[in-house]
Amino acid sequence: MSALLLRGGRLVPVDGRSRTPSAPVDLLLQDGRVQWLGPGLQRPRGVDEIDLEGRLVVPGLWDHHVHMTQWAATLGRLDLSGTASPQDVVSRVRDHVLALAASGAAADTVVTGWGYRSGAWNPPPSVRSLDAVTGRHPVVLMSGDLHNGWLNSAALDLVGVEPRDAPLDEAEWFPLWPRLAALPGAAGQAEAGVVDALARAAAKGVVGITDLELDAATGTWPVRYAAGPGSLRVRVGVYADHLDRIIAEGRRTGGVWEGTGGLVTMGPFKVITDGSLGTRTAHCCDPYPPALQGDWPHGKQNISPADLTSAMDRATSSGLDCAVHAIGDAAMDIALDAYAATGAHGTIEHAQLTTHAQVQRMAALGIRASVQPTHLLDDRDLTAACWPGREARTFMFRSMLDAGVRLDLGSDAPVSPLDPWLAMAAAVHRSADARDPWTPEQAITAAEALAASTDGWGTVAVGHPADLAALDADPLAGPADDTAAAGRRLRAMTVALTVVQGRVVHDAR
Ligand SMILES: [Zn+2]
Repeated sequence: MSALLLRGGRLVPVDGRSRTPSAPVDLLLQDGRVQWLGPGLQRPRGVDEIDLEGRLVVPGLWDHHVHMTQWAATLGRLDLSGTASPQDVVSRVRDHVLALAASGAAADTVVTGWGYRSGAWNPPPSVRSLDAVTGRHPVVLMSGDLHNGWLNSAALDLVGVEPRDAPLDEAEWFPLWPRLAALPGAAGQAEAGVVDALARAAAKGVVGITDLELDAATGTWPVRYAAGPGSLRVRVGVYADHLDRIIAEGRRTGGVWEGTGGLVTMGPFKVITDGSLGTRTAHCCDPYPPALQGDWPHGKQNISPADLTSAMDRATSSGLDCAVHAIGDAAMDIALDAYAATGAHGTIEHAQLTTHAQVQRMAALGIRASVQPTHLLDDRDLTAACWPGREARTFMFRSMLDAGVRLDLGSDAPVSPLDPWLAMAAAVHRSADARDPWTPEQAITAAEALAASTDGWGTVAVGHPADLAALDADPLAGPADDTAAAGRRLRAMTVALTVVQGRVVHDAR
């Protein structure tokens, strides 16, 4: 494994206490570890040297919740974020189709779009309105939280769905995803995008991701990394439909996937127990307001408590951690009961609406909170509409830390961009616009947000993984109580160098 000497980096404290970076030190990275650390290191013969010129060194960042295939595809999709109504979406699609025609693209080129948030839209989107502007193009639109699909008639026909006027909700929509990949022209496009997506992540200082894509454990990563040295570390999650095979193959959480140079490891067993806020299917103790209720007034539990417990029991006894998606507080109770009954290790994914008692219980059970702070910016207005009076119980990061729950930040890309600096900024300053921070009593400090982004590693030290990032600015600078300034500083962060396993994967010096 390659060795590398980094000269003159200042170590950013990642202990949540001090905020002052160290004096410049040299770091020798060897055999995938930080081997030596101190001033004036002698360069061993044959070892490359990089001068960090006093830049700020942090442990490499992790994004603990990514859907990589979706994210890669998103980077090439028509952006529908920020649309305020079905007509808004339709007019963006019409402009895009006109531009395609002007560029000489074939009249039946598949158009994919993503990012609308139709949860509170009345009247709801219609297939007919989409058909009116799309000509022969098959058009596939996905909601920002991916739980809703809005296809035109040409696309519905291609994926074998009967003509209809309403978009597809989760139960009809999720099973169609494999067929979307088989649409003409779609094959290969996403795969090419993965390389680009990894490079963009490395440019943010990211050294690893947990990939919770539905197909993550089907061997896609070893194929991606077979051609040459891979870039980032990847933990692959497995869903119920592939659990038997993964257990039969003897894969345990943390186990290295052969042929990947140690970069790809087995991640957790992932279970989606309830729906989402945007589709009013997150499973809650209190009902949704009558005007916004769908088919399930309290939201929807996708798996029974008994089935959840038995699946988690099976995963645990096979050496797999669990990652349990629970957004509503009713789903949270069921998930915590299952953790208590099975003694499973792992995370609650999202933990969007919780009670103080549930937070205490998470701490007592040693369950980590895998949370996506940028969702709190996207969901601010939707939360007020769907969970009125419960805002103080959403995204309870401060309460979780105070109770002793470990936070692992992530993006849920493509739901929000794969950018840990955006996540940290949202956790610190709970507003992305001119409004005051939302439920500011649940804000955490920049130091705490950074510590929740390094996969548990503290200030860089000898023996730590040679997974590091060198920053152009100090992420903890400035008065701690000016959260607006702290948020701006984090969002504007630029990363000069990212190193994984002692190998440079991003260099913008
Ligand atoms: Zn997700």
